[in-house]
Amino acid sequence: MSRMTSPHTDADESTAETDAATDRATDSGTPATDAAVDAARTDPAADTVLDLDGVAKAYSTESAVEALSMSVVDGEILALLGPSGCGKTTTLRLIAGLERSDAGTIDLDGRTLADAAAGVFVPPEEHNIGLVFQDFALFPHLTAAENVGFGLSDRSASDRDERVAELLDLVGLTDHADHYPEELSGGQKQRIALARALVLNPELIVADEPVSALDVSIQAEILSLIADLQEEFGLSMLFISHDMSVIREVCDRVAVMYLGEIVETGDTETVFTDPQHPYTEALLSSIPTPDPRSRGDGIELTGTVPDPVNPPNGCRFHTRCHRVVQPDDIDVEQSTWRGLIDLRYRARDDDIDVDRLMENALAEEAAAGREPTDEEIRAQIRREFDLPERLTDPGAESTLAEALELLVDGEVESAATLLDSEFVTPCERTHPEFTDHGDGHQSACIRHRAEVDSFEAAADDD
Ligand code: SF4
Repeated sequence: MSRMTSPHTDADESTAETDAATDRATDSGTPATDAAVDAARTDPAADTVLDLDGVAKAYSTESAVEALSMSVVDGEILALLGPSGCGKTTTLRLIAGLERSDAGTIDLDGRTLADAAAGVFVPPEEHNIGLVFQDFALFPHLTAAENVGFGLSDRSASDRDERVAELLDLVGLTDHADHYPEELSGGQKQRIALARALVLNPELIVADEPVSALDVSIQAEILSLIADLQEEFGLSMLFISHDMSVIREVCDRVAVMYLGEIVETGDTETVFTDPQHPYTEALLSSIPTPDPRSRGDGIELTGTVPDPVNPPNGCRFHTRCHRVVQPDDIDVEQSTWRGLIDLRYRARDDDIDVDRLMENALAEEAAAGREPTDEEIRAQIRREFDLPERLTDPGAESTLAEALELLVDGEVESAATLLDSEFVTPCERTHPEFTDHGDGHQSACIRHRAEVDSFEAAADDD
């Protein structure tokens, strides 16, 4: 587990004392060491704090989640990684009881909070989950101390004051107890939000992009505070973020999400150094390297993110995946196969602008008054989709040539029908199951399943 130890660097945060967090007493739980967390996450009998099993939620206009299963074990920080619109916020709302799920169960510390089939739904005021938001969500008319103590209205004034003072000390803001949110910096507001989330000794903290609104130096301080709090008090946390460097800094395990589904889970370092799912691979390849001379090996995903309300069949990533699988009867370069699938989908969406391609095909000659030939336009379409002048697979070449003729003749629907019938990937027909790569590292991709199946078949033959 990675830990940040850098001292504070921003004058605006001068009263914050991150490192002192570990030296202060609270009435929180038992400390957990890195070794204990490492042992817990590989031990099937380890205490599970949060358990989601087959959770689903559909909307008519927003991103949804589908068959979501994951767990947070005692004392770990689990990252939920994915771009905006992938279903992370929906997941938070379901866990926090702000929405009812359509299917599946959500258990917190052994207690069922939601079971759609059984009609069980525990409202959020009966949970003990601390929430931390990107925009801090502090009450503007309450002081820092009043914000922290907001959940303690049933306590005596002396109890409340004692607990609030303890938490303000823990986050290094004792001197700011009487300040209103507008008088605090972003980092200070997030410290207050963390203190507020901890005030009832929650079983779980759910933090939604907790540092993405902060400057980099302040991000480091808040991450350091979170790491210290976890180490000292054994916090269990679901850390929702799109920022891979932030996740690598502070999270023990990671669950990668694409279009409402988890596609890979595992120990953070393992997933970051040996990603198995093509989407994780593409995400990691986009992390900038510190070497300005390096161009990196960024994997460029084609197409756009599909509508989450109406996701693709089979593997939801197949419309963009650079490793999308070829059927047994086609044998072309992998990048060519991606291009053929892209051509098929663009034809189906009537999204191939032949007029523009004609202009591009012979810009100079067209400017001089010469019309490009059909052959030149077909060549331009091939270039547009990174397809070679001639495919190595004769059958695929014959289909492509016929489809290109139809496109140039304006018969887009017929071209789309032909491509739809011939260029079909197994990835659109099969919803991938998870494959175990060892030590809790799993990914959902049919390529892995095929490898396991062929290995098992070979073993059976022996
Ligand atoms: S199942 Fe196919 S489309 Fe999905 S990630 Fe694996 S190779 Fe890519």
